[in-house]
Amino acid sequence: MTFKLPDLPYALEALQPHISAETLRYHHGKHHAAYVNKVNDMLKERGESCDDLAELVRSADGALFNNAAQAWNHALYWTSLSPKGGGDPKKGPLADALAESFGSVKDFKERFTRLALSHFGSGWVWLVQNDDGRLAVVDTHDAACPLREGLNPLLVCDVWEHAYYVDRRNDRKAYVEAFWQLVDWTAAEKRMSTAAAAR
Ligand code: MN
Repeated sequence: MTFKLPDLPYALEALQPHISAETLRYHHGKHHAAYVNKVNDMLKERGESCDDLAELVRSADGALFNNAAQAWNHALYWTSLSPKGGGDPKKGPLADALAESFGSVKDFKERFTRLALSHFGSGWVWLVQNDDGRLAVVDTHDAACPLREGLNPLLVCDVWEHAYYVDRRNDRKAYVEAFWQLVDWTAAEKRMSTAAAAR
């Protein structure tokens, strides 16, 4: 059993003008693909097999963890964006939880943006749900993934330079602004756990 690169859930041109087709072609077709291929190569070398990428992220160490987590993180990233995204979340459980956890959607976006801009080096900025149902913003370095801490990731922004260098050069701020034009609130709401919602 080998892992497959998941298809993008939209056309290469669909996120323009915020994220270009060229960026997606490289970021998905080269970077993400390379992580998936490396996981498959490493499992083959070890004579192991696995069909649950999240389980591998929770249990693997070293280079296998790095590549498995990068494969998982990118899959969440593509589904954190949508050509129909942006704006503010519609009234509902996510909007309520953001207001409860951060004060308001605006306060959440400001906190997330601050962390994305201040994050040093390569990494990821996440909206996660804790066991108690509350939401938090966290950043992780390199491949690190909040699944390891038992958190439920709802949204993620890739702040590795390869995510924006083609379109924005070194301007991470412009890239994070583009992220907000595309953010898929509906997908994030679907990821909120039913257990927490039923509390
Ligand atoms: Mn990336």
